[in-house]
Amino acid sequence: MTKNVFIANWKMNLPSGFEFYLESLSKLTVSSNTTIIIAVPFPYLYQANKIVTHDTTRSDEVMIAAQNIHTKLKGAYTGEVSIDMLKDLDIQYVIIGHSERRQYFYEDNTIIVKKIEQATNKNINVIFCIGETSDERQKNKTFDILTDQLGILKRFENLDRIIIAYEPVWAIGTGVTATSSQAQEVHSFIRRWIMNNFDNNTAETTSIIYGGSVNEENIYDLVKQPDINGGLVGGASLSLQKFTNIINSVVDP
Ligand code: PEP
Repeated sequence: MTKNVFIANWKMNLPSGFEFYLESLSKLTVSSNTTIIIAVPFPYLYQANKIVTHDTTRSDEVMIAAQNIHTKLKGAYTGEVSIDMLKDLDIQYVIIGHSERRQYFYEDNTIIVKKIEQATNKNINVIFCIGETSDERQKNKTFDILTDQLGILKRFENLDRIIIAYEPVWAIGTGVTATSSQAQEVHSFIRRWIMNNFDNNTAETTSIIYGGSVNEENIYDLVKQPDINGGLVGGASLSLQKFTNIINSVVDP
């Protein structure tokens, strides 16, 4: 069965009362088969992980993610953080390939594949973000761009540690969401790509989640689609109430 995954990406923000936010989420009763992941800025990883893992009443399915790693394990790279450092903190997820990293930090496929290698070599799960820009969509290049971005996964034996987040760049932080049918079209394309390049079982079990101006209203139609297994949420995840409502859009079958 494909897991539902809801990810809060706080980016370079901190929700007010973030300790309470994390404590509350840890105690949330969620639909079975749902994983909740909170991607927090580096300086808060230790504290955040302590809050969610030290609460004995917590659900096992609330995890903390880092938002980035460096391609190297150590060295003279001022300001950077390696996968081994995340391991030291017992962090089990990392976002790689987010469009903001591609755009503002010039991360391309060559860099992204090295980061995925670093993470999977150390058994850390990867939230791999892909998506086309508005210009690319208008020029009917969406599927070519996605094929190129997905192509780096062919280097890996399996996708056991990969969650794919389809995030059309034109929908991130803009308030414009892909319609559920636009998103479903792309998600089903991604699943078929996995089927063709890996196998049926991998295609069925890989979680493919949608990101791009997800909110409490639009999430319902999105997660009803057969190939959308949850959401990667930026802006709306800064509110505990909104993010909780988004998570609750998935009900037990
Ligand atoms: C994101 O950070 O990946 C994102 C989708 O942001 P937002 O929900 O604000 O569009």
